[in-house]
Amino acid sequence: MIEPMTTTRRIAIIGAGLGGLATARALILQGFEVQVFEQAPELADFGAGINIGPNAVKVFNALGLQERLHAVSHEPSGIAWRDWSDGRLLKRVPLEDSGGRFGASYYVVHRGDLHNLLAESLPPAVVQVNKRCVGVELRPQSVGLSFADGTEVETDVVIGADGIRSAVRKILFGGEGPRYVGTMCWRTLVPTSALPPNIHDGHVTHWTGTTREGFVISYYVRQQSFVNIVAVRRQPNWTEESWSTPSTREEMVAAFADAGSVVGEVLRNATKVYKWGQFTGEHAEQWTKGRATLLGDAAHAMLATFGQGAAMAFEDSYIIARWLAGHRDDPERALAGYEAVRKPRATRIQAYSRTEVAFKKLTTPLDRLRREWVYLRKYGTTTAAIYKNIFRYDPVHQWQ
Ligand SMILES: Cc1cc2nc3c(=O)[nH]c(=O)nc-3n(C[C@H](O)[C@H](O)[C@H](O)COP(=O)(O)OP(=O)(O)OC[C@H]3O[C@@H](n4cnc5c(N)ncnc54)[C@H](O)[C@@H]3O)c2cc1C
Repeated sequence: MIEPMTTTRRIAIIGAGLGGLATARALILQGFEVQVFEQAPELADFGAGINIGPNAVKVFNALGLQERLHAVSHEPSGIAWRDWSDGRLLKRVPLEDSGGRFGASYYVVHRGDLHNLLAESLPPAVVQVNKRCVGVELRPQSVGLSFADGTEVETDVVIGADGIRSAVRKILFGGEGPRYVGTMCWRTLVPTSALPPNIHDGHVTHWTGTTREGFVISYYVRQQSFVNIVAVRRQPNWTEESWSTPSTREEMVAAFADAGSVVGEVLRNATKVYKWGQFTGEHAEQWTKGRATLLGDAAHAMLATFGQGAAMAFEDSYIIARWLAGHRDDPERALAGYEAVRKPRATRIQAYSRTEVAFKKLTTPLDRLRREWVYLRKYGTTTAAIYKNIFRYDPVHQWQ
């Protein structure tokens, strides 16, 4: 006997990271009953800076969060590439008229502020902590979820927003999990008050060296009271799993002894320093099975230094909510529609992030020519056109 379709009402999200929280907000605005299950004991205010490109800012605007986002963000005047030995400007993407050129502002923000903003936009009981998902059972009209604490929940649809080491993905599709890409990074915040005046300007700056061994990205966060640093070096092996393995200022400074005086001065004033290895997700053939799907890093983890991982999760969040709202009687069709729209774009940007990390060095004209040649050969387009395409995309109006 064919069972009648029931209207989708309850949606469970596994993972209260940036993607999970934004998706909860988008779904609640569409009238769904949403529960978010997070394995951590509390919603922690961790991490450092994050770029929110205009493509993702459009989602915040549509979710009614534009003023709150603006209040906690810094609007950079551009993205600059500089030679780290003498500070020479090599290339610049202007962002002063980001609204006119790309349809929304470009922001940089402290990750903890962004996480709080999203968490505070949800009704109090939506997020449950200490809930590590260990089982997903697909049933004809529902999904059964089980958790490490022995509890079980039944829902109409489940969204795995549980990050690069996604348990939902492993349960549904198996696979090997993420792969180390051969670069490790230090991240830290440097108090602006500790630095000489005017040592840093309002750009997101990529400092590139004379070899391909490393680069540093810096930009202001928290009303310009800190300079956020991501400092990247090649390293063949990496064993730590965490994003927040403690390191020291001395270790980081020693690793960038060949950087010039500006980068050296900034790094020497760092306070708490953490390090982590850059991992990338496998290319996912499939995100959706029945009433279960993946979102954010669980579906398409990309390299952090491209600055688009969370942005892709925000694009996903709005688009999945629209598809589910558009097909309330047929969630499988909604999830298939979501995947069909999202996969080509997210997979392409995942690929750009892997290419980009190899071409940060732009100090000579030959470096710049080589980079354009590689992008033309691989993707049939220039890097300027790639940024334009990423930033101009409008997930709010191009969701179908
Ligand atoms: C240092 C750094 C800098 C970055 N900079 C940028 C940037 O500038 N711009 C940008 O767009 N992106 C950036 N990214 C990438 C971005 O942070 C990620 O793409 C984004 O956080 C992915 O969000 P997510 O919600 O998919 O996953 P996550 O944020 O990883 O959240 C996953 C959540 O799921 C929870 N979880 C995991 N397993 C389970 C389970 N079994 N049960 C329940 N809960 C579970 C985790 O505890 C976590 O809270 C950066 C990343 C790093 C590391």
